[in-house]
Amino acid sequence: MLTDSHSRKIQYLRVSLTDKCNLRCVYCVPPEGVPLLSHDEVMRNEEFIHIIGIFAEMGLKKIRFTGGEPLVRKGFIDILAKTRERFPELELCLTTNGTLLESFLEPLRDFGVKKINISLDTIDRERYGRITGRDMLGQVLSSIEEAVLYDYFNIKLNAVLFRETLEELGPLLRYAGERDLVLRFIERMPFLGEGEGQHFIPADVLLDELAVLGKLERNRKFDTSVAVMYDMVLADGMPVKIGVIPPMTHKFCSRCNRLRITCDGLLKTCLYSPREYDVKTPYRQDMGDEALRSIILKAVEEKPREHTIECLEYGSQGCASLMSIRTMSKIGG
Ligand code: SAM
Repeated sequence: MLTDSHSRKIQYLRVSLTDKCNLRCVYCVPPEGVPLLSHDEVMRNEEFIHIIGIFAEMGLKKIRFTGGEPLVRKGFIDILAKTRERFPELELCLTTNGTLLESFLEPLRDFGVKKINISLDTIDRERYGRITGRDMLGQVLSSIEEAVLYDYFNIKLNAVLFRETLEELGPLLRYAGERDLVLRFIERMPFLGEGEGQHFIPADVLLDELAVLGKLERNRKFDTSVAVMYDMVLADGMPVKIGVIPPMTHKFCSRCNRLRITCDGLLKTCLYSPREYDVKTPYRQDMGDEALRSIILKAVEEKPREHTIECLEYGSQGCASLMSIRTMSKIGG
């Protein structure tokens, strides 16, 4: 079992399979785009599987595939199949924008990927186009309908908090409630210089708005290491499960049990820290598994106690421009 120097048990690895994405979300990718990594820089399928294996031996229990958009990676099914075959005890999860999900549902079910987080900031087609830069809401909604029919997946919808989210709260809540899906709101993190009209909304403002639309009750039983959970009953009696993820206004670092691997093989122990530990190069230089284990142990040992970005005011710019490390599409969210 991996334990860091603040006594946190590290059991969860987020694996970014690619920096490519078929959306251009305004909070994730700057308007001018980001230069993509070259083919050789990105880890190969076997490299991912080998590195995942080292973590599994070191006691990791849960892997979440993310990106970029993990489903645009050509080898996705191969990586998934081999990971499942070699490490049957690992819990495998997926975070996706849902645009391509429909055609992957069968293999995902067959390989036991039960927990799927789908990004869905809006169910309004025009607004979706504006936020993501693509007219693909239809594909996402159709994937969700199909996934629900499987009656197998544990689906969470993730919506980044915008001022516009607040305008659309009612329809979003109803959409999730009608399908019995958990709806989680994520405070927007300042990975990019923020432009006009993309202001930061703190979770507490959301909670005030939710309270107007129904009865909200804390449900600690379903809290995760990052999400604060609520049972909500809308004014007309419809129940909805709500999650709030407030990385900016309420730190949850003390419960952080996660590590991240970027698609170019860098281990990150904190989303907000520029510190990265290269595991790809030692692997490619045949330095052996013992060297890889030492790098991982050192990284875990040095995992920061907490992030140092303070959200001092919720002014028009929120926490904007406080960091300029990598965009989320490059880190893997
Ligand atoms: N493409 C996949 C997706 O859309 O879910 C996986 C990668 S995406 C980077 C993972 C999550 O990070 C998404 O839910 C996305 O909304 C969230 N995200 C990206 N940039 C963010 C930001 N600046 N603040 C908060 N959440 C962000």
